[in-house]
Amino acid sequence: MSSLNHGVLCPHRFFLAKVARVPQDDFRLDGPVFDTRDRGTALHHAFELALKHRDWSPEKLAAAGVAKVGAQGIEASLLREELERSVVLLRERERDTAGELKPWSQGLEFNFRDDKAVEIGPEDCRFRLGGEVDRLDRTAEEGGLASILDYKRSESSSDSYFKRARDGHDLQLPLYARAMEELLGVSVVGFEWVAGLTRSRRVIHDERATALFEGRRETRPLSTEPTPAFRARIDTAEATAAEVVRRARAGDHARAPVEKGVCADCYWKDVCRPDVTWLEKQIPPPPGEDAAAPAAGGDA
Ligand code: SF4
Repeated sequence: MSSLNHGVLCPHRFFLAKVARVPQDDFRLDGPVFDTRDRGTALHHAFELALKHRDWSPEKLAAAGVAKVGAQGIEASLLREELERSVVLLRERERDTAGELKPWSQGLEFNFRDDKAVEIGPEDCRFRLGGEVDRLDRTAEEGGLASILDYKRSESSSDSYFKRARDGHDLQLPLYARAMEELLGVSVVGFEWVAGLTRSRRVIHDERATALFEGRRETRPLSTEPTPAFRARIDTAEATAAEVVRRARAGDHARAPVEKGVCADCYWKDVCRPDVTWLEKQIPPPPGEDAAAPAAGGDA
């Protein structure tokens, strides 16, 4: 699924990730072997088990998380400590935010890749969407309401993903929402980016489900949207993803980052070798903005 996000940022990036399938790790020269992705994987695993096995101790859950990523030595003991603290906190937070939306046991690290992928998209550009939902919480009734949760390690990471999604630059949760609605017959009314190491979550929710989300607020305010705007997020994500697929099928894999800074953050820049100065001059200004005006600053 993240491949579609690459395609939104640059068609050539999608080509390298999804068509040429150039692996990311072969070209990462700048990180330790045991990196934040391993820590994230361990945290996800410990959280999944903590919700499935409510009688397991924090020590047992942390050990399972460490084993999942094969950490050794000092890294293993630091990670074990971090996981123990995080699962204790998770259980407190679950108690404090308990309400009608409850974790769906089959929706913990719910994998719908390959033969379980879901066909979505408009009539003229159907495509199969695969991915893995960290967690889906739902109301008890058949075809009820649901929220899609994405675990991040830190508050800054959950903030960053929330802002990118809010501004329409991250398709992941809206596309997962469409897939889950197709697969399960639920109506998705919320997206949540939950920091694992601290008590913080960012939420965008449909205002018709306000009562469901009031109790889920942690340290940050909830972002409530009128139902048409919330539904439009899901429709727009599907249409944007279809456009990425349409371009790829037409053989369009131009080097064309959509905004400044995309190349600097691209795993494939060593393979692509872009002329960043020239490419950034080609980026059209956002609609309604004077081409000569200075670029806007960072995130709000
Ligand atoms: S380095 Fe830039 S131009 Fe090349 S694939 Fe990545 S985003 Fe696209």
